[in-house]
Amino acid sequence: MNRRYIIFISILAAFAGTLISLVTAFCLSWSSAIGEERKRLTVFAGQATVRADLTLNAARKVLQNAGQFTAPPCSEQHIQEMRLAVINSKNVEEMGYFDAGLLKCTSWGVTTARVAQVASDFTMADGIQVTLRMQPVVTMGKRMTALHLGSYNVLIDPARFADIVLEPEMTLAVMTADGRVFGTQHDPDLAMNRSLLHVPPGPDGGPLSVVVRGVDLHAVLTEPHARVLERVAQQQWLLMPFGASAALLLIGIVIWLARRRLSLLGELGVAVDRRGFSVHYQPLLNMRSGVCVGAEALVRWCRADGSMVRPDLFIPLAERNGLIQAITDQVMHTVIHDFKEHFKAEPDLHIAINICAQDIKTGRFLNVLEQALRDAGVAARHLWLEMTERGLIDTDAARITIARARAAGHAVAIDDFGTGYSSLSCLQDLPLDALKIDKSFISSSGLDLLNSSVTPHIVAMAKTLQLKIVAEGIETREQADYLQALGVEFGQGWLYGKAMPFAEFMVFYQSRKAGGPG
Ligand code: C2E
Ligand code: MG
Ligand code: MG
Repeated sequence: MNRRYIIFISILAAFAGTLISLVTAFCLSWSSAIGEERKRLTVFAGQATVRADLTLNAARKVLQNAGQFTAPPCSEQHIQEMRLAVINSKNVEEMGYFDAGLLKCTSWGVTTARVAQVASDFTMADGIQVTLRMQPVVTMGKRMTALHLGSYNVLIDPARFADIVLEPEMTLAVMTADGRVFGTQHDPDLAMNRSLLHVPPGPDGGPLSVVVRGVDLHAVLTEPHARVLERVAQQQWLLMPFGASAALLLIGIVIWLARRRLSLLGELGVAVDRRGFSVHYQPLLNMRSGVCVGAEALVRWCRADGSMVRPDLFIPLAERNGLIQAITDQVMHTVIHDFKEHFKAEPDLHIAINICAQDIKTGRFLNVLEQALRDAGVAARHLWLEMTERGLIDTDAARITIARARAAGHAVAIDDFGTGYSSLSCLQDLPLDALKIDKSFISSSGLDLLNSSVTPHIVAMAKTLQLKIVAEGIETREQADYLQALGVEFGQGWLYGKAMPFAEFMVFYQSRKAGGPG
C-alpha cells in the first residue's frame, strides 16, 4: 500500500466516519423525539379512555338502578326518583321513562307532547341501545348521546366522553372499536381516526397519532407534525454534540491509524501480523577445509512495495516496541520448515538463529522452539543460538536461559564479540559454546595496528576457554589467511557468500559440504 493510497483511504474513512456519526446522531434525535412525543400523547389518550369509560359506566349504572324504582310510573315520586338519579350522576343530563315506545315523563316532569322513542344507532354487548347525536325533544337543547335500557333512557352531553384538558394543537376522538364516535375535542379528522383504529400509525410525514384502547371506548389522539419537528430540534441540541464528539473521535482515530500505518513502526506491526518476513542464510565455513558447515539465519523484511528493509534498521525498532519476539518465532518456524528434511540427511548441518535480549532474559523462545522441533522431528543440535553481549548484561537470567538451551541440545554463541564492554566477564561467567568475533575487528585485520593487536587476544582467550571461534565479516582472502594463521576455525563473510534465499543456499551447501558435492 503506498502513501497516497493510505492518505486517500484515510480521508475517505474520516469523511465517512463524520457523516455516519452525524447521520446517526440525527436519526437518534429523530427517533428519540418521536418516542418521547408518542409517550406524552399516550398519557393524554390514556386519560381520555379512563374518562370515557367512567362516563359510560356512570350512565349504565343509572339505567341499571332504574329497575329498582318503586313509585308508580310518572308519579310525582317517580319523577323525583329520576331527578335524584340525574343529580347524583355527574354525567347524565336527563332521564326519561318510556311506555309502549312513547316518552311518558322525564326527570323534568310529565311529558305532554307525543314523543316516540327514536331508533337506536347500535346496541352494546350488555343490551344498552345507543343513539348518537340525538336531539332532545323536551329541552330542544344541544344534541345528546342517548342510552336506552328497558323503559328508561339517559341523555349524556357527548363532550363528557372526551372531557380532558388537551393542548391546543391536539385532537381527540373517543370511539367504539367499529368507529362510532362518542365524543371529540378540537375537531379531529374522523375518517383518518377511524382508519387508525385498524391500521397502526406509520412513520410517514403525517400527524403523529396514538390509539389507546379502553374497555368499551377507545381514544385516538393526534398532533400536527410541526410539533414533532420542534421536539426533534430540541433533541438535536442534546444529541448533536455527541454526534460531533463521536465524529471528532473517529477523525482522531483515523489520523492516528493513518500515521501509524504511514510510520515505519506501524508498517512493521502490520508485517508482523501478516508474517511479512523471509529468512536468508549466510554460509558458515570451516576455513581450513572450505567446507560449509551451516549458516546464519538472517531475517529480511520484504515491504509491500517490494523493497527490502535491512535488519539493522528494523530489529532495534522491533526490540523497543515488543515486536521482536513475534519475529524470532517466525524466523525459528521458517528455519525449521526450510531445513526439516535436510537436517535428517545432514547430521552435522546447523543453522544459527539470532536471539534478542528480551528472550534471553526470559527464555520464552525456548518453549516455542522445543515445540516446533518436536512437531518437526528435528534434533536441537541443528539449531545454534546467537546472543549478543547486549543481551547478556543480565548475567544471572542469561545463565539460566543458556543452561536451559544447552540442556535441550543447542549450541550457544556469543555474537558481535568485542563490541560491548562486558565481554570478558561474559565469557568467564557464562557456559558458552562459541564466540563470534565482530566484523569491525575483522575488516581491519592485518591492516590496522590497533585492531590487529586485539584480535589475537580474543582468539587466545577463546581458545583458553575452549570455545569454538567464528570470524564474521570476512571480505578478503588476506583477512581469511590472517585469521586462519591465528587459529580461527570458522569463517563467515562475503568472501564466501552473502546471505541468500534458502534454495540458493542449498545449492551452495551441496557444492561445499563435507565429502564434496552430494
Ligand atoms: P549479525 O548477527 O552480526 O549478522 C551479521 C551481519 O553482518 C548480517 O547483516 C550480515 O549480512 C552482515 N555481513 C555478513 N558478512 C559480511 C561482510 O563480509 N561484510 C559486511 N559489511 N557485512 C557482512 P544483516 O543481515 O544486515 O543483519 C544485521 C544484524 O541484524 C545481525 O547482525 C543481527 O544482529 C540482526 N539480525 C538479523 N536477523 C535477525 C533475527 O532474525 N533476529 C534478531 N534478533 N536479530 C537479527
Ligand atoms: Mg548474528
Ligand atoms: Mg554478528
